[in-house]
Amino acid sequence: MTRGRRPKWMIEIAIERMNILFNRAEMEFINHPERSNRYVKLALKLSTKYNTKIPDEWRRRYCKKCMCFLKPGCNSTVRLVNGEVNIICGECGHVMKIPYHKEKKLKRRAKYESNQKRNDE
Ligand SMILES: [Zn+2]
Repeated sequence: MTRGRRPKWMIEIAIERMNILFNRAEMEFINHPERSNRYVKLALKLSTKYNTKIPDEWRRRYCKKCMCFLKPGCNSTVRLVNGEVNIICGECGHVMKIPYHKEKKLKRRAKYESNQKRNDE
């Protein structure tokens, strides 16, 4: 197998598997947090192997430093500081900063693009 770009169907399968892994991590977190962390690691491995981003909805649900699953209110704190979303990992104390404006902009752009779609084609 060659490195680099993967066919689209492979990427789709990888994304689906990542979703499954994160969903499982979410379900198991209360009783078996160590399993959740393993699922996160597996999902991250998939993302590197297939050169795919972690699905948006899960991107803030793990710590980029210690790779553990984060559940807001359980082992992570989410705060809005100076227009940034700060996600603090309760396991290692790592702070992830996500600019809040960018998110709003992306949402607006998605809306705009769906309106403009017919012009692109
Ligand atoms: Zn951490």
